[in-house]
Amino acid sequence: MEKLIITAAVSGSSPTKEQNPNVPYTPEEIADQALGAWRAGAAIAHIHVRDPQTGAADSNVELFAEVVEHIRADSDLIINLTTSGLNLTGSDAGDRRLDPISLKPDICSLDVGSVNFGRRVFVNPLDWVERGAREMKEAGVKPELEVFDIGHIRQANQLIADGLVASPPWMQLCLGIQWGIEATIESLVEMRRRLPDEAIWSVLATGAQQLPITTHALLMGGHVRVGFEDNIYLERGKKADSNAQFVERTVNLSRNLLREVATCAEARMMLGLRAVKTVTNDQ
Ligand code: MG
Repeated sequence: MEKLIITAAVSGSSPTKEQNPNVPYTPEEIADQALGAWRAGAAIAHIHVRDPQTGAADSNVELFAEVVEHIRADSDLIINLTTSGLNLTGSDAGDRRLDPISLKPDICSLDVGSVNFGRRVFVNPLDWVERGAREMKEAGVKPELEVFDIGHIRQANQLIADGLVASPPWMQLCLGIQWGIEATIESLVEMRRRLPDEAIWSVLATGAQQLPITTHALLMGGHVRVGFEDNIYLERGKKADSNAQFVERTVNLSRNLLREVATCAEARMMLGLRAVKTVTNDQ
């Protein structure tokens, strides 16, 4: 089986220090958590930025730039910046969501399809999605096609068929978000069945489903995402000390199941990303 690519989604836009004091807010804290996850074996860090004082979701490109600079200075981590911009409102929100592309990260997330998101609506109109895919392609940034439900896979497949996404497509199957597809094995199997053959796919699941669903994905040949964005508990009643703890557990699981874990350099090859000077994480 192909080596396992582990993504650490280190901050997200929702978890707070009140819920778990180890959730990072400042660019330094976010970069430190990403580097900790890298040392534990993560190949990709998925980054949201937060208001350094309040922890509120933020989309300031300067904050993203600080995180990127810190991570690049010390590692060869694959950097994946969000374009979800859930905090943004107003007529220029669509433009501002795409600002992180200008920093030329390796990957930017691209949310395909709209969905009720808790009590909000996560709006991703087709025009915006196509524009995002085009801008990423022009900038040499790989999109991570995030899908929250079955219909979103149809739209992602159309983007790929339209030539808007460079090969191989990298897809993140997001299970358990309210009110996208539920986090069950049946959902996972059905989503997997609908992916294009050439897709390289990763799975995330929220809360208590993070561990069982990502473990199933691991056994099915998929890649996995763990971290505070999706789950702040290591086990029932026990909050995680860091993103690295989740990554460490995933590395151990994978090795015990005789699946090797990809280094950053290996993951770059698999995803068709540009090579950078390899920096050892002592794994
Ligand atoms: Mg995200």
